[in-house]
Amino acid sequence: MNMERGDAPARYRWDLTAIYATEEEFMADCRRAEEATAALGAMKDTLTASAEALLDGLCRATAAERVLEKLYEYAMLSSDLDKGDNGAEARLARVTDLLDAHRAATYFVAPAVQAIDEGVLEGFYRDAPALAAYRRTLTLIRREIPHMLTGEGEKLLAELSPVFGSQKRTHAVFANADLSFGTVKGEGGETVPLTSATYVPLLMSSDRRVRRSAFRTLYKTYRQFGNTFASLLASRVKEKVTLSKLRRFPDSLTASVFADEVTPEVYMTLIKTVREGLLPLFDYYDLKREVLGLSHLHLYDVYAPLSGEAAGSYTYDEAVKEVLAAVRILGEDYHSTLKDGLTKRGWVDVYPGRGKRSGAYSAGAYDTEPYMLLNFMGKLDDVSTLAHEAGHSMHTHYANSANPPQDASYTIFVAEVASTVNELLFTRRRLRLAESTEERLALLNQLMETYKGTLYRQTMFAEFELKMHRLCEAGEPLTQEVLCREYYALVKDYFGPRVTVDEDIAMEWMRIPHFYNCFYVYKYATCISAASAIVKRLETEGEEYLAHYLDFLRAGGSRSPLESLKLAGIDMTDPAVIRAAIDDFAEAVAEFRRLYREARDEK
Ligand SMILES: [Zn+2]
Repeated sequence: MNMERGDAPARYRWDLTAIYATEEEFMADCRRAEEATAALGAMKDTLTASAEALLDGLCRATAAERVLEKLYEYAMLSSDLDKGDNGAEARLARVTDLLDAHRAATYFVAPAVQAIDEGVLEGFYRDAPALAAYRRTLTLIRREIPHMLTGEGEKLLAELSPVFGSQKRTHAVFANADLSFGTVKGEGGETVPLTSATYVPLLMSSDRRVRRSAFRTLYKTYRQFGNTFASLLASRVKEKVTLSKLRRFPDSLTASVFADEVTPEVYMTLIKTVREGLLPLFDYYDLKREVLGLSHLHLYDVYAPLSGEAAGSYTYDEAVKEVLAAVRILGEDYHSTLKDGLTKRGWVDVYPGRGKRSGAYSAGAYDTEPYMLLNFMGKLDDVSTLAHEAGHSMHTHYANSANPPQDASYTIFVAEVASTVNELLFTRRRLRLAESTEERLALLNQLMETYKGTLYRQTMFAEFELKMHRLCEAGEPLTQEVLCREYYALVKDYFGPRVTVDEDIAMEWMRIPHFYNCFYVYKYATCISAASAIVKRLETEGEEYLAHYLDFLRAGGSRSPLESLKLAGIDMTDPAVIRAAIDDFAEAVAEFRRLYREARDEK
């Protein structure tokens, strides 16, 4: 019953004419964006001459960005529907050019705003009360002041910026295109090419021989290029450490979380609390060993599935009903807005189709609906994905409705909170209603995998990043030997005393592209923790707490992510938030074990 996009009724497809009905409308907005950029560019020497000029400039900037955002949204969505559509590709290229031109023409804004004397700016706020609407925008630009370089410094860094972080591209090209990992024998003895894309699916095989062979074969190749990978990663870390020092941050962790408007304390609390909560993870691996019937659990066993896929499949309409029922707890307004979005306003492009982008996402501009792209196949996972993406879209909906455009978009640090809340609400509701043990086990398995992959694994990565940057800051060269040693020690800590930690895993850091982003992945772990704590409170405190959660959604980008979360009663420096996720994970492990043994004993 897998439906193809082309055969699906219109209500299951995006109608992008709601954004631009005709090509002429699209082109007209392109011209508007160009004019707005030019008008703003013309204010280069006058932007901060008076309160009125500054207000005028900021209004123009916002207006230009608003149109550009809408243009980009339209171009991206239409191109994602059909990667073979040349017209869509041309529109995307056109908008990318407009964005580049806008960036270049308005490069002067931040330095000009940073150059305003504090007293003068206070005077501006008095002279033009409407300027208060841009207080957050101005504050965000001006908080960089202590970290700006003087003289030619900024110009130099700007010129060099295209090469910063280029190690990540090199890593991607090398690991995904140049390296060849050979082949392994699949479950039926067939030859399967081993690539970065087939590796994890092979590790999920229920045939241990396949898993072991994929694991060993992959690292055989990595082993030959260890010095190259070490050199690439060391160079990226060194670059980040140096830039942080140049910008007068005490260290690169502080510099990185500064960009998120977060404190190093949040980062350290996460690592410390997760480390204190490793026992449930060891318990999970014990469970895995028991269910797989192995005497020793090796690292190539940890992706092997614990339960089959849940029986039963869903039509999309059933999935919508499931998700709507799961978010009832979020109140009437949330429920009815989402219902409208899913059933009347065309938020979702549901089915896979020829040329359509794979995966799932939610994306919305200030002046469009918060669209979702799915590739719905009717599995439990697909329903969970709908719940997740609906969480993003509703967050965007509330943030856009409650704020002016300059304050609407929320940051990456909180971006996965609302989506994970919905995902957890969906899973927990299904768990309560599931009639078969099979479905329960599948749901619990999904829940455990989410916590293992998002909370524990990302925190281990976060700890490795911290270690690398600290070593570099202490002047220690990050050689292959050092990186393998540190990584292996961490894996041992995180897998515990009863898992056989194969030596090859010391090279795993070579595979992880996220390490080139520097201090990024901890956000996955903090988001799931916040979501877990929120779900607990929604379920126990009801209506009274709900209002706080909705305030968080409405905050958008109007305050810092930590302050926004405080609206929902979540303090990211409080270990209790992280512990909520650890406890939830521990409960899932215990419940899985109980159900599994019960079913086994009945047989
Ligand atoms: Zn997401």
